[in-house]
Amino acid sequence: MKLIFLGPPGAGKGTQAVEISKKLSIAHISTGDMLRRAIQLGTPTGLEAKGYIDAGKLVPDETVIAMVKERILEDDCKNGFLLDGFPRSVAQADALSSFTQIDCVVDIDVADEKLLARLTGRRVCKECQGTFHISSLVSEACPVCGGTLYQRDDDKPETIKNRLNVYHAQTAQLIEYYQTRGLLKEVDGDKAPGDVTQAVLAALGCK
Ligand code: AMP
Repeated sequence: MKLIFLGPPGAGKGTQAVEISKKLSIAHISTGDMLRRAIQLGTPTGLEAKGYIDAGKLVPDETVIAMVKERILEDDCKNGFLLDGFPRSVAQADALSSFTQIDCVVDIDVADEKLLARLTGRRVCKECQGTFHISSLVSEACPVCGGTLYQRDDDKPETIKNRLNVYHAQTAQLIEYYQTRGLLKEVDGDKAPGDVTQAVLAALGCK
């Protein structure tokens, strides 16, 4: 099964993608994680991406398209994959359709007012990449693996505003894009994570 998760930053795409990809035994492909890893490693892609990410802007289409095109050829994608954070523009969606066929697109919807609180309180584990909200943490260590938690630079309030603007200007139009193509399923993301997972599975017809 080849899936796309759409939704604004902070909607819970990453958290849901981890759960759903495990349940369906498909690869989880997060372009944000791939770019952050490239920055850590200091690769040419990472050096190019850093300025865009820090400013809350989209990394150029050519760069992310090439990255995804190569990634989905890897062995772990043979059974399918879940794209988390890609496509983010019509140009990316058009390019994607030229090299693979998507089965279903899930839009995880959360109102803007809720997103700011979710994103400013978000902490990520350096080791397992798990994401958590400060309100659920009992210590400074990752509750899953004990690793160090940090706040992403682009989860600071100034950058979050830009990311939400970019979402509304460039990514939200993909909802209609995939609706027109009969691929879209809408899920309410303003619930407990476990309930959202159940709703996504139900939307995919595999509860
Ligand atoms: P995310 O982890 O999905 O929130 O992505 C973090 C940042 O990485 C975004 O704000 C963009 O700067 C960049 N990024 C991730 N995916 C894409 C994409 N498909 N197209 C362009 N930029 C992206």
